[in-house]
Amino acid sequence: LTPFERGKLLYKFSDIIEKNSNNLSYLESLDVGKPKSEAEGDINGVVNCFRYNAGAADKIEGATIPLGSEFVDYTELVPLGVTAHIVPWNFPLGMAARSLAPALAAGCTVVLKPAEQSSLSAIALGDLIKEAGFPEGVINIVTGYGEQAGSMLVNHPLVKGITFTGSVETGKIIYGNAAKGIKPVVLELGGKNPMIVFPDANISKAVDDAIDASFGNSGQVCSSSSRLFLHEDISEEFLKEFEDKALKLTVGPPEENPNLGPLASEEQYDKVMSYINQGIKDGSKLRFGGTRPNRFSKGYYVMPTLFEKVDMTTQLAKDEIFGPVAIVHNFKQEEEVIKMANAYDTGLVAGIYSENISRSLNLSRHLDFGSVWINGWFIGGLQAPTGGVKMSGIGRERGMPGIHNYLYIKNIGVHL
Ligand code: ADP
Repeated sequence: LTPFERGKLLYKFSDIIEKNSNNLSYLESLDVGKPKSEAEGDINGVVNCFRYNAGAADKIEGATIPLGSEFVDYTELVPLGVTAHIVPWNFPLGMAARSLAPALAAGCTVVLKPAEQSSLSAIALGDLIKEAGFPEGVINIVTGYGEQAGSMLVNHPLVKGITFTGSVETGKIIYGNAAKGIKPVVLELGGKNPMIVFPDANISKAVDDAIDASFGNSGQVCSSSSRLFLHEDISEEFLKEFEDKALKLTVGPPEENPNLGPLASEEQYDKVMSYINQGIKDGSKLRFGGTRPNRFSKGYYVMPTLFEKVDMTTQLAKDEIFGPVAIVHNFKQEEEVIKMANAYDTGLVAGIYSENISRSLNLSRHLDFGSVWINGWFIGGLQAPTGGVKMSGIGRERGMPGIHNYLYIKNIGVHL
C-alpha cells in the first residue's frame, strides 16, 4: 500500500475500534478486573493511538546529504518487515496499540502476542481487523505462554524486529534471544519512579497527582509514582492530605466502577501482599492500607497503601511492586534527593513538583530517567516519546520516534 493508503486504513481501523469500544472495554474489565471507566479510558487511548499513527503514515521522510557537486546522496526509510509485539496484561489493548500502530504506519507486518492472563481483547481485535479490510497476513495475533509462543516468535528467522513491554527479567531473556539473530529490540521494562516535591510546590495538585499516579490501575502501571520524595518542610502537610484522599478511594469489582479494581491475578495479589508483609518485617512503618478492604473476605483487592521510614536497601524500597503501594522518603537538600532518586538500576520516569521552573529544569538534567515530568504526571499521552534508561529498557515508544523503531535507514549514494 502507499503510505497514504496505509494511513486511510489505520483511520478506518480506529473508527471501527471506537464503534466497538463498549465490548472491548468490557472484555478488559472481565480479563483483568479494571473498573468500568478506567477500561473505557484505555480503549479511548487505543483509538487515539491508531489515529495518531494513521496521520503519521504519510509523513515518514528520509534526508538528502550534501557531499559536494559530484555526488547525490539520500536516505530511504525502509520498513523492517515482520515485527513481533509481546505485551503485558496491565493495559492489554493499550500496550498492543502502542506497539502495533506505529509498526503498521511504518509499513511493517505485525504479530501480536498478548499476555496469557489477558488475551480476550486481542482476540476481539482480530475480528475488527477483518472488518477494516487489512490485506491478509498484515496483522496476526498469536495467543500463548511466554516461554512457548513468545519465545518462538522472538527466535523465528522471519521476525526482523521485536517490541516487548514487561518485566526486567523477561526483558533480559528476550534481549539475549534477539541477540542471536542480531535483531533490533524495543524494551520497556518498568521502574521505581520518584516523585520529588519541594516546599514551593502546589501541594494539593501534587497530592492529587500522587494519588492518581500511585493508585490508578491499582498501581499496575510501569510509570506509577511509587517513591514519593517529600521535602521535610512540607512532608507532614502533604501526607495528611494524601492519606485523607487515599482513604476516600473506593476499592471493588469492576461493575461498581470503583477507583481501584482488584489486582489482575492471584499471582499478582500474592506478590504485592508478600512485598507488604516483608516491608513490615523489615521495619518499614505502614501508615495506612496494607490489607484487603474489610468488606471482602476474598478477591484480589488491596487497599491503597503507604509506607514511611523505609530503608533504601530493602526490597520494598527498590523493587517495582506493581500494586497500590507507595513509599515515602523525606529529604532536605537537592543533592541528597538527586542521589536517592538515581540510586537504583532502573530509570523510567521521575517527577518534580516546584513552582521554581529554573530549579526544576536544572534538576531534570541530573535525573537519570527516560522522562522527567514537571508539575504533572502522565504527561505526553500519545505524542511524547517514552522509555527507560539503565535497566528500564532500550528505545522509545510513542510519537515519531515510536515509528522509527520499525524502519531502517538505507543510504543511497551516487557518484555523478
Ligand atoms: P509480567 O509482566 O507478568 O511480569 P512478563 O514480563 O514475563 O510478566 O510478561 C510479559 C509478556 O512477555 C507476556 O506476554 C508473556 O507471555 C511474555 N513472555 C514471558 N516470558 C517470555 C519469553 N521467555 N519469551 C518471550 N516472551 C515472554
